[in-house]
Amino acid sequence: MMLPVPPAMRASAAKSPPPMKTVVRRIKFESELDLAFGERVAERAYGQKLLSCIQCGTCSATCPLSHYMDYTPRKIIAMTREGFKDEVLNSLTIWLCASCYSCQVQCPRQIHITDVMYALKREAIARGFYPAHHPIPVLARSFYERVFAQGRNTESRLLITLYLRTNPLVMLREAFLGFHLWRKGRLSLKKESIAGRKDLRKMLNAVEHGKKEEPL
Ligand code: SF4
Ligand code: SF4
Repeated sequence: MMLPVPPAMRASAAKSPPPMKTVVRRIKFESELDLAFGERVAERAYGQKLLSCIQCGTCSATCPLSHYMDYTPRKIIAMTREGFKDEVLNSLTIWLCASCYSCQVQCPRQIHITDVMYALKREAIARGFYPAHHPIPVLARSFYERVFAQGRNTESRLLITLYLRTNPLVMLREAFLGFHLWRKGRLSLKKESIAGRKDLRKMLNAVEHGKKEEPL
């Protein structure tokens, strides 16, 4: 005799099964690591102290953004030192770091954590390892392009470029606020520029191309 199936069970049986998750290996073998990576980053971030990290976690505790990071600053230091190159270069942490230097000031080993973040960011940019539409690298690049072209930034134009390159829908949402600020004279669309733009470009070109860094 067949037993009646309760309605709740009938409904769940009718639903399609959850998609099968891909099985991935979550550890790395030593042979897959870049064991000299930590030393190379340390050289670029002012000193070998990076290698002396005691994993006390003070940097993560003091970091105002660690709650949003995929790897806390303590983990970034540990992973860099151990050679997890791809993981740190692909992490969001390096883009979320606001360069506030709080971790660096508090570190009992005086490790230049903020400079490590900068070194990793530069390397990620050089390798194209950054999220294409993430606002932080887009903002940094757009800011530089405007300064390069005009010698000065126009906030309203920078914002428009940022929204267009990341999420144009946000621009629509903020349009009313922008209009309100413009009407009150708090936001100008007038392009700002300086007189010696050619000289500035020469200087920026010299900085950008004069000191090419070797890949890490
Ligand atoms: S505060 Fe310094 S020593 Fe402590 S975990 Fe962070 S980097 Fe390492
Ligand atoms: S410099 Fe970056 S990593 Fe260090 S505390 Fe500030 S935001 Fe966090």
